[in-house]
Amino acid sequence: SAAEAGLYTASDQILLLSPGNVEAALINSTAAMVVEFYASWCGHCIAFSPVYKSLARDIKEWKPAVNLAAIDCAAEDNRKVCTNYRIRGYPTIKFFHAYSKADSAGLAFKDFSRDVRSLRHKIMDKLESHVEAWPPACPPLEPTSQAEIDIFFETNNVQNLALIFEDAKSYIGREVTLDLLQFENVAVRRVLNTEAGLVTKLGVTEFPSCYLYYPGGNFTRLPVNIEARTFYSYALQRLPGVVRSGRPPSFTTFFHINTTEEPWRPFNKSRVYMSDLESTLHYSLRVELAAQPVFKGEALRSLKKYISVLAKYFPGRPVVMNLLKTVNSWLQNETSGQISYEAFKDILENSAQIPNAALPEGVRWVGCQGSQPHFRRYPCGVWMLFHVLTVQANSTGGSDPLEVLSAMRNYVQNFFGCRPCAEHFENMVMESLMEVNSLSSAVLWLWSRHNRVNNRLTGALSEDPKFPKIQWPSPEMCSACHTVKENGEHRWNREQVLPFLLSYFSSSSILTDYLE
Ligand code: FAD
Repeated sequence: SAAEAGLYTASDQILLLSPGNVEAALINSTAAMVVEFYASWCGHCIAFSPVYKSLARDIKEWKPAVNLAAIDCAAEDNRKVCTNYRIRGYPTIKFFHAYSKADSAGLAFKDFSRDVRSLRHKIMDKLESHVEAWPPACPPLEPTSQAEIDIFFETNNVQNLALIFEDAKSYIGREVTLDLLQFENVAVRRVLNTEAGLVTKLGVTEFPSCYLYYPGGNFTRLPVNIEARTFYSYALQRLPGVVRSGRPPSFTTFFHINTTEEPWRPFNKSRVYMSDLESTLHYSLRVELAAQPVFKGEALRSLKKYISVLAKYFPGRPVVMNLLKTVNSWLQNETSGQISYEAFKDILENSAQIPNAALPEGVRWVGCQGSQPHFRRYPCGVWMLFHVLTVQANSTGGSDPLEVLSAMRNYVQNFFGCRPCAEHFENMVMESLMEVNSLSSAVLWLWSRHNRVNNRLTGALSEDPKFPKIQWPSPEMCSACHTVKENGEHRWNREQVLPFLLSYFSSSSILTDYLE
């Protein structure tokens, strides 16, 4: 289709326009819209597309107020739309105010620079230029005053008010306001350094800085490592009582049917549990693989690689390791080119005859528990398992940097039940797996791709509201992992992320609570 031939896909957090949806998107929309008109053959457009994708990830939380869209004017079907909007060159970016009329041609961005930060600032400037119909989902962006704060809690039904003190040129206050737009029970206002009353009352000396202000006039400084946008947003989105808003409630009751409620197992959110890893193996080996009646060719090769990597690197209890090694040597000795799942299962279960070799039956999710039965669990366990395996291969000095990742790639491609997940994952593999040239870069690759997935799924229906998708690890878990560039944009400190991952997923940090 035209959409697939273009430079963007549905998973980029960018709305793909076509003649069928363009009117609904641009005319009388409650959100402002930013539209890139491009041609898929145009070199500048191709060069610009990674920037536009990062911009979409960067401001994904702003969607109800301002949404990003794109349309491929080179696609035959879209030509008329692009002509109607009087597009002459590519790429052209246009801003459409909320509630734009049918005859609005939008406001073109003139000479925009090709970096996320200045595009974001430009979008905020345009957003603030709404004269009449302000997008209803957009909170106020203008600076607040002592007078407004004095009556704030009388007129707003929230428990948390964050005040960001900054100078007039700074965009941080407005950015954080928009980053928190989809969260309930928190409001953000910017206060200019010239607002003498509030500055004196709170004793503010640093700009920017962020304070939590409570009914009755008490206040505390928001503790962050670096006074910058992402640090404020991270911290505010996870204040007690702050939750993502706007979830369809009927969804959850539907899934309650037919599930036996297990008791909740208290756990430490920043640790890895063996019980999750064993549960993942149970589900993978006894349920997911059982969907294949026979393994041959590519599927058989994938199964062999997977089991061999498990036998080598799974940091399991001796009984589990004995089982994995038994299954592995049986599999590797197999020469007929074809095995049935039944034969595989016989070895899996009958290894019980071999003393001290068994994989516990059933699942006991701990760190992968979800607030509802359809959240987290197995896919969470799959990520955990492969992070642990890449780290284990690194620390035991495996010889092939790609051994674990290609086993994972093949497993996901051939067996992982979530087919759209497999497709997305394969796209990431093809885009960047060649970057991996050492055991430690394999660990970092999986971490950064997992964050890509987290980014894409922020706000998705599959996100457990009690476990919001974050760019992981959070500053609370690893403050040294986070830093900012000179211009204040967030940057991962990879020299710190690597040792963090190596320790977090190491066999000696795995907790054995709740094992049978
Ligand atoms: P998960 O993302 O499952 O993470 C599990 C745990 O790993 C977290 O609790 C955290 O402790 C840790 N963690 C989080 N981020 C990182 C990181 N960057 N590096 C290391 N550790 C981290 N779901 C979809 O809806 N669409 C998809 O396209 C999709 N693709 C997937 C592809 C793969 C290969 C897998 C394994 C899963 C995919 N899923 C997809 C499922 C989704 O990624 C989550 O697993 C699921 O929503 C459960 O989320 P969670 O909150 O338990 O956290």
